[in-house]
Amino acid sequence: MTVFFDTHTHLNADAFTEDVADVIRRAKSVGVCQFLVAGYDLNSSYRAVELARSYPDHVYAAVGIHPLDAGDLDTETRCAISELADDPSVVAIGETGLDFYRKGYAKEVQGEAFLWHLDLAVKHDKPAIIHVRNSFDDVLDNLQQFDGVAVAHCFSGNRSEVGELVKLGLYVSFAGLITYSSGVLVRGALSSVPSDKLVIETDSPYLTPRGVNSRRNEPSYVVKVASVAAETIGMNVDDFASMTTGNARRLFGLGQTR
Ligand SMILES: [Zn+2]
Repeated sequence: MTVFFDTHTHLNADAFTEDVADVIRRAKSVGVCQFLVAGYDLNSSYRAVELARSYPDHVYAAVGIHPLDAGDLDTETRCAISELADDPSVVAIGETGLDFYRKGYAKEVQGEAFLWHLDLAVKHDKPAIIHVRNSFDDVLDNLQQFDGVAVAHCFSGNRSEVGELVKLGLYVSFAGLITYSSGVLVRGALSSVPSDKLVIETDSPYLTPRGVNSRRNEPSYVVKVASVAAETIGMNVDDFASMTTGNARRLFGLGQTR
């Protein structure tokens, strides 16, 4: 059976509070059986762990503070996130990174928070989930000294940028952007990622893929992302699903060595 792994969803967001069990059931009914729920602030990090405990072997958690909330990373929050990072259901640190697109915290504040998360990832031997928005060169600079494992989530850049990330050994995750008619460059980038570094995600509730008749995105739609991605690289969807699910499990250290 074809099994998909949504490597970045926010089932911990308010948008899913009412019906998360239905959302998970719907996803499983189309083969989306594994989910990485990424934290973006302290509450959502706790919620990610709670969901992972409720759905063992299906939901896995990441804990961290989103770059747009980087200023919230005070001493108390650092302690809480570090403590959560010890939980066996936590398989990654994030999401972290840099976001200079929206009006947010200063570069220095975001940069310091990013480095703190990278350091935490290394200490816990867990991969970092990296958000990059209008910040590619700065993210690259920050990664030069990093010798852990990481994934660039919701990649939106071009072929030469993805090449830089691949050179650093990163995994690269693609979301609904590749399904848009405007996604020509990002599809070009996708086709140049080595097959063992490629993973897929929804970033739900955001970024609904093209052709989905719902404002809210959800993990079941990762199948749409997979079908466009598979077509882009000339693979059938079943093979693509088993390849990317295997990559995701290796990335998150689930039952295989990295
Ligand atoms: Zn996210």
